[in-house]
Amino acid sequence: MPIHKEDFGQLPNGQTVHRYTLSNNRGLTLKAINYGGIITELHVPDRNNRTADVVLGLSTLEEYLAGHPYFGALVGRVAGRITGARFTLDGTEYLLACNNPPNHLHGGLAGFDKKIWATETTESIEAEPCLMLTCHSNDGEEGYPGNVAITVTYTLTRENELRIEYAATADQPTPLSMTNHSYFNLAGEGSGNINNHLLQIHAHEYVPADGSLTLTGKITPVIDGINDLTRPTRLATLTGAPLEAHGDNYMINHQSGQDIVPVATVTENTSGRVMDVSSNATCLQFYTGKFLDQLTLRGKSGCVYKRFDGFCLECHGYPDGVNSPEIDDIILRPGKVYQQTTLYRFSIAGDSG
Ligand code: BGC
Repeated sequence: MPIHKEDFGQLPNGQTVHRYTLSNNRGLTLKAINYGGIITELHVPDRNNRTADVVLGLSTLEEYLAGHPYFGALVGRVAGRITGARFTLDGTEYLLACNNPPNHLHGGLAGFDKKIWATETTESIEAEPCLMLTCHSNDGEEGYPGNVAITVTYTLTRENELRIEYAATADQPTPLSMTNHSYFNLAGEGSGNINNHLLQIHAHEYVPADGSLTLTGKITPVIDGINDLTRPTRLATLTGAPLEAHGDNYMINHQSGQDIVPVATVTENTSGRVMDVSSNATCLQFYTGKFLDQLTLRGKSGCVYKRFDGFCLECHGYPDGVNSPEIDDIILRPGKVYQQTTLYRFSIAGDSG
């Protein structure tokens, strides 16, 4: 059975949250719930064909409801930080939820990560298992204008990819730039920190952030020894840096909605697992998991997560594009369809396919 549905828990209002299990013909298994569209598990074979769950997450719905740092969740309307939690669009100023002072982060207090999504399971024409999630965001939600209809599809492909496709329409102009916030550890969730991962990011420019993580809007060349990851770089050399890096917003060298291009490659040599990320998004937020210990969170394997136990590779538009349209126009207008696709392809180091 490539797709299986079961109960995952109940919301305080009695509504049941479901968990879907998708498997492909290459050993990948994905588990996702319709609360926040959260990817709760992603099992990937290693070089000896032993699988491990390579995403961080929690065991129960109650733990997700109690609060977590966006583990595996769908993030919107706008992923990342909007400077000053405000913007002006077509002459009107909008004030957003200021949930990460002084900024608006990841869609606000109740973003897409906390929605109950309607679901449909299908198989693609190539017999690939798909989970389609849909939801609505109402005019005024978290301060944003317009009603938005959103569809996200998770597919496990025959090429051993997790493909995430985002689509949305709106009845008024509104900023929209979504992502999935999975934290990866290719050695397996709960196996310790990410220091031994090699990360390559195919970007020559980034946008620096200040001490409050506010993006400065100045596109800047990556800096050798600090955040130039154009060659595979051991993460220990970043996380061991004096300031214990947070990660950066990299520019992926093209405008949103264009071709899908290689974004990043991650290699974990102990297991042999390799993850190639490609996307048509404008930016990649690499996040090191620096704040993972802000809450005491016991992961699925029973361990308490520490900082740098998982990293995120968040493909999305330029988060503050609504205030810096010259960098990226993230406004979805009526009559247009927002479309973003990100692929995470898994392979084994040294294997050609
Ligand atoms: C941000 C971090 C934040 C984390 C969890 C990441 O996308 O870059 O600063 O702590 O999400 O909220």
